[in-house]
Amino acid sequence: MQFVASLTRDPGEIQRFQRLWKSGDDSRKPFRNVLVTALFTPPSTLRLLREMREEGQVEQVYFDSGGFYVQMGRITHEDMYYQLLQFYRENDWADFYIMPDTVPLSSDDTETCWHKVRQTADGTKRFYDEMPSRLRERALAVIQGRSDKQIDYCLELYMSLGINRLGFGSFATNGKQSSTNLVTEEALHLLKYVTTVASQKGVKVHAFGVGTPPVIYLLNQAGVSSFDSIGWMKTAGFGKVYLPFIRAYNVTYGDIGARGMKQSTFENLKDLTGHRCPFCENFEQLATKRDLRVLHNLAVIQDTIELIMNGQSSELLRLMDEFAPTYAKMRKKVA
Ligand SMILES: [Zn+2]
Repeated sequence: MQFVASLTRDPGEIQRFQRLWKSGDDSRKPFRNVLVTALFTPPSTLRLLREMREEGQVEQVYFDSGGFYVQMGRITHEDMYYQLLQFYRENDWADFYIMPDTVPLSSDDTETCWHKVRQTADGTKRFYDEMPSRLRERALAVIQGRSDKQIDYCLELYMSLGINRLGFGSFATNGKQSSTNLVTEEALHLLKYVTTVASQKGVKVHAFGVGTPPVIYLLNQAGVSSFDSIGWMKTAGFGKVYLPFIRAYNVTYGDIGARGMKQSTFENLKDLTGHRCPFCENFEQLATKRDLRVLHNLAVIQDTIELIMNGQSSELLRLMDEFAPTYAKMRKKVA
């Protein structure tokens, strides 16, 4: 399973993180796979990522469609469609081209949801026909839907086109302007259904915009091949840190609130999960410096994937029971 770092950011910030990571002497590459929203990324960031790809620091670039920005009301589906087509025609250096989609919101009724599903699937078919033929084998089509019928509508259409990479985007939404994706039991069931159908055709499935450590475990359980997230950075900005199999906890409170974590608990969990990185060696620093939390979270995501892939999950699942009980419940239901 691959982690894709969502990096629709300024080039200065990406370079700073890259420099700091290198100073930590960890040979892993957190930005091996990156996702950028083509239409909302500064040209200077695109230039930097292209350079990083040429130098081998980045191995795979995903161009995201901007469905998220349609979801937030920043651009219409139609405008995104034509701007994206133009952009893809002019930029042939990415590894995956995500087709335009519209994300149903948790607050949408069935009719609105169907409209968005059809807009996504039918729009993908048109877009696929209109995009340069040499890029078609790199197309990644997005499945939207909250029911089996809606999912089937997308799946059948994409399979008939011969698209060989799919993405799942219908997670529940909440937060300001419905800007946060939430993993729910319903979404996990649909996701598992998608990966089951897709794997029969040898097609891999990507999960959009999710990836806290316990969720990474659930995504793997659901048969997902890759996922992208910016949670490691957002979470750090809120003063929170990850640990393998454990949801984000706040470490910046002077006095520990209900959702905070004490230093002693943090150190104990580091021992239990085997996590070590240069960015969390000093808890005081971790509590006061956002950049250290960002890099620590990146290290934890990679640890989590390694632990899962090396078959070391079973002994750590009890930590998920205790420190991420909501996800632990889902794990038992979706298994
Ligand atoms: Zn750390």
